[in-house]
Amino acid sequence: MASVEFKNVSKSFNAFKAVSDVSLDIGDGEFVCLLGPSGCGKTTSLRMMAGLETPTSGQILIGGKEVTHLHPKDRNIAMVFQDYALYPHMNLADNMAYPLKVRGEPVQKRHARAREVADVLKIGHLMDRLPSQISGGQQQRTSLARALVYPAQVYLFDEPLSNLDAKLRLEARGFLNHLQRDMGMTAVYVTHDQAEAMALATRIAVMDQGKIVQYASPIEIYRRPATTFVANFVGNPPMNLVEVECEQGEGQLLLKGEGLTMQGLPMTDAIGKALATSGKKLTLGVRPEHLAIAAAGASNTVTAPLFANENMGPESLVTLDRGENARITARIFTDDHLNVDKVVTLSFLAEHVHLFDGTGKRIPVAGE
Ligand code: ATP
Repeated sequence: MASVEFKNVSKSFNAFKAVSDVSLDIGDGEFVCLLGPSGCGKTTSLRMMAGLETPTSGQILIGGKEVTHLHPKDRNIAMVFQDYALYPHMNLADNMAYPLKVRGEPVQKRHARAREVADVLKIGHLMDRLPSQISGGQQQRTSLARALVYPAQVYLFDEPLSNLDAKLRLEARGFLNHLQRDMGMTAVYVTHDQAEAMALATRIAVMDQGKIVQYASPIEIYRRPATTFVANFVGNPPMNLVEVECEQGEGQLLLKGEGLTMQGLPMTDAIGKALATSGKKLTLGVRPEHLAIAAAGASNTVTAPLFANENMGPESLVTLDRGENARITARIFTDDHLNVDKVVTLSFLAEHVHLFDGTGKRIPVAGE
């Protein structure tokens, strides 16, 4: 296995900058997810690692060696792309074993390795079939197996689970997680599915408009999102973001928004600086799982008419309507179907809130 490094890498297609000055270090044995919305530059970044695109500027290193202009076959990488491109005239066993055949491995050895991986992916019983004789999900797992049989330095995945149904997708995700722990493979995995990135990654690079906006462990990104963009992208449902006005009183902040009041957040220099430039207005963030139905006398609350109450089994998603684009959703964990009034008051703790300045950048709160 090997490390991967991007040094100030940019890629333009004519005048359009798809990837803009990206620097990224991926340690040996790390599983890094490139996460972001459609068109943010994830696939282009992966294709540059693979050698399928050449950077307009910057350098790419694999295992400490510069590979920026090296042919894909000389990079010792394995790839799984969305379109699984299996060889139609070969059965699954030969498809999976093909990368080992190219390396000159004897037939018995390569088929045994293919079978081993196929069994884990639950397609071992299909080895004699042609790709046209199996389902789309099975084709995708064959493509995954073909990459995994190959002892590469780095594994590159571009949304490899996107064609699987929900149950198989969860199973394959668990398998990849297990494999990563077992093999300690270096992997770069492109996805727009935040749950997949949270579950698999040792670190996530969140991308927006060709740039990396945060590169950190899943838990760090969940606990301390660097911007409102990240806060809104990671989490399901996403973090609630509310415009608030701030007043200062006795070392504490008093926050007020439509139907919302909050106190108990200690004033810090960082908050003072943000207030000085944004004229009292900040964005308050609270995750749905940190809101509860308020008990009488609760101090940090938001009150608004009920918009929806969705029973999800172990929890209910309770959404309040505070006007256009200003809904607030709470994940209320309860065994019973929740009966709520037409107007609902939710409460939250000061230790669970996030603050963002006028540009959407995180303001560290006390203790961070
Ligand atoms: P998705 O999740 O939809 O696959 P992505 O984040 O992987 O999106 P990229 O495929 O990297 O995005 O594309 C980034 C931007 O570069 C997009 O606006 C895309 O239209 C553009 N782009 C990609 N390849 C080319 C190309 N060969 N020529 C011109 N523009 C391109």
